[in-house]
Amino acid sequence: MSRPIQALIARSAIAHNLAVVRSRAPTSRVWAVLKADAYGHGLERIVAPDSPALALADGIAVLDTETAARLRDGGWSRPILLLEGCFESRDLDAARALGLTVTVHHAEQIAMIEAARSAGPPSAPLSVYLKMNSGMNRLGFDPSRYREAWLRLRASDQVGAITLTTHFANADRPDGVDQPMREFERGAVGIEAPRSLANSAALLAHPSTHADWVRPGVMLYGATPFATRPAAEFGLRPAMTLRSRLIAVQVLQPGASTGYGYRYTADREIRVGVVACGYADGYPRVAPNGTPVAVDGIRTALVGRVSMDMLTVDLTPVPGAAVGSGVELWGAQVAVDDVAQAAGTVGYELLCALAPRVPVVTVD
Ligand SMILES: *Cc1c(COP(=O)(O)O)cnc(C)c1O
Repeated sequence: MSRPIQALIARSAIAHNLAVVRSRAPTSRVWAVLKADAYGHGLERIVAPDSPALALADGIAVLDTETAARLRDGGWSRPILLLEGCFESRDLDAARALGLTVTVHHAEQIAMIEAARSAGPPSAPLSVYLKMNSGMNRLGFDPSRYREAWLRLRASDQVGAITLTTHFANADRPDGVDQPMREFERGAVGIEAPRSLANSAALLAHPSTHADWVRPGVMLYGATPFATRPAAEFGLRPAMTLRSRLIAVQVLQPGASTGYGYRYTADREIRVGVVACGYADGYPRVAPNGTPVAVDGIRTALVGRVSMDMLTVDLTPVPGAAVGSGVELWGAQVAVDDVAQAAGTVGYELLCALAPRVPVVTVD
C-alpha cells in the first residue's frame, strides 16, 4: 500500500477562476501566469488538450524558452509571454522560432535585439513587452528613460508590436497603485500602445489598472493575493487539495509532549493524530501549534513540531477519528492562505513548494 498523501488538482477550479477574471476585467485580454510549474499545479496537466482550465485564457505567461517550447510541443498555439524576456541572445532565436512575446526590461536586452540585426531582417518580427520600473526597483526602465527605450525598439526592424508594461509592488494595498500609476503615466506620456499592468491583486482591487491585458497568477489557483481578504470573498475556488490520512493515534496524559523538541505539552488528556505529511512533502516546518488542519471534515489544529514525514494534530474536536481518517492539509476546508498565514508566509509559497515526492492526482 502506498503512503496516503496526495495532491488533488481540479482543473475545473482554474476554469472557474478564469471566469472570475473575465467578469472582473471584461474588456481586457488575459495572460494566465503559469510560471513555477503553474504555481506547483503542473504545467503540462493544466495545458493538456483535454484540460478545461485555460479555455478562457488568451495567452500563457512563463519564464523561459524551454518551458515555452514544451507548451508549443503540447499544442498551445495562442500567445506565450516570457515575463523576464531573454537571458542571452540565443533565447531570441528560440523566441522567434516559437513565436513568443518577450519582455524587454533592460538596455542589454535591446542591445541583443539590435545585434541580431546583422543576421538580417527576421521573417516574423518579435512582439515586445517593454517594461517600466514604476517603483518596485526590480525590473524595468526608469520612467525618464522609457521613451528612449521605446524609440530604440521602434527603430529596429527586428521588432513588431510593442506593449507597455509594468508590475506593482503593493497592489494588495488600498492605495498601493496610486504612485506607480502616476510614474507609469509619466514614463508613457505620448506613447500610443496597448498596456498590461495588473497582477491578481491589481485586477481584484484596482479596476483602473485593467488596461488591455491582465496577468493573473495566484487567483487562478484559488488563493488570495491579499493578507486580509480571503479568496472566498472573490468566489475563487482552490485548485489544489493536499490530503493524507492518520497513520497513528496517541493518547497524551497531562504533562506529556509530542514530537521533536516537545514543542506541545498536553495540559489535559488529549488524543493526537499522526498524519502522513511532513516538511519533505512541502508542508511548512515553521507552522506553529494551532495551524488549521481538517480531520474527517472537521477543523482542528496542528500540535507539536512538523517532522520530515509526519505531523501531529489535536483530535479533541473529532472524537471518532482513528487510523485511516482523512486529513486535509489545505483545500476547500482549510484555505492554503490560512496555513500560510499561520506559518508567516503566503499561499503562493506553499503551492509552489509542493514536493516532487507527493503523488498528484488530476480530478477533472
Ligand atoms: C508572477 C507575475 C504575475 C502574477 O502575479 P500574481 O500575484 O500571482 O497574480 C504578473 N506579472 C508578472 C510580471 C509576474 O512576474
